[in-house]
Amino acid sequence: MISFGPVPSRRLGKSLGVNNIIASKTCSYACVYCQAGRTHIKTIKRDIFFKPEMIYRDVEKHISLLPPDSYPDYLTIVSNGEPTLDINLGRTIEFLQKTGIPVAVITNASLLVLDQVRDDLCRADLVSLKTDAADDKIWKKINRPDKNLDFENHLKSLLLFSAEYKGILCTESMIIDQLNDSPDHLERLAGIVKNINPRTAYLSVPTRPPSEKWVKMPDAGKLNTAWQIFSKKGINTELLTGFEGSETGSSGNIYEDILNITAVHPLREDSLLRLLEKNSADFGIVESLISQKLIKTVMYLDKKFFIREYHLSRNKSGNK
Ligand code: SF4
Repeated sequence: MISFGPVPSRRLGKSLGVNNIIASKTCSYACVYCQAGRTHIKTIKRDIFFKPEMIYRDVEKHISLLPPDSYPDYLTIVSNGEPTLDINLGRTIEFLQKTGIPVAVITNASLLVLDQVRDDLCRADLVSLKTDAADDKIWKKINRPDKNLDFENHLKSLLLFSAEYKGILCTESMIIDQLNDSPDHLERLAGIVKNINPRTAYLSVPTRPPSEKWVKMPDAGKLNTAWQIFSKKGINTELLTGFEGSETGSSGNIYEDILNITAVHPLREDSLLRLLEKNSADFGIVESLISQKLIKTVMYLDKKFFIREYHLSRNKSGNK
């Protein structure tokens, strides 16, 4: 239930996902474009989720079941929420590194203000920091942070981490139509990213069903402008505008694979069909998961996606 994939990653090659949060989506943000749906528990309080030993055992077993051509390039801690909310993150990273596979963490960077979070992340081989907004107003519009977070402190902590971290540092900025795609905002955002000094700054667009239906992709012209603005500042910038592909790895348990992958990544129909084919499984499994209300279908950009359905069992107020 903890590990899934490997899934093809636009940044990391074959990425075996490790979901260290799992429970109803728990995050310090409630981003309008979130692909994991609405934030059920919005918090900045770090907590205990799984024991690092248990995560390691789950990942080790998963790896042992993979065919050689699915051996992962990265173990990627990418959660159903924000991975740094896990108080045991640092130990989990160290356990996972025993596999000999590099460990990446995809974080919204909001908790970098905490010394312990920066210490934990410093153990990872690659860290990707979310940087969508250049000012407090846009930050609140897009990321809808927990009320205890402060934008100026957040900016300072990004620079502090950048100075401390010795691994591969990336940033990822989601560009959204009418929200953060004006040339003025992009100039200021590029200035912030330049100071973070990532190996690569990725500019992405919402290619999966967003939490808020009104979220739209910027048109190609605006995306090109964004790339030009970042690149002119001397930042190594890449656009992430495509679908990752449909080569989704399998643990051998198709039922769990579908549930685990859809908890973090909506699965495009062609990927799901490929996964079924690889496991000699038929579509009845998917129909059964839908009828049990464990997954559901959504249309986005004329494509059908399958996403996980969560039934709230904890704090229901969270997000909005
Ligand atoms: S995109 Fe990431 S940071 Fe934003 S709400 Fe979703 S899980 Fe949290």
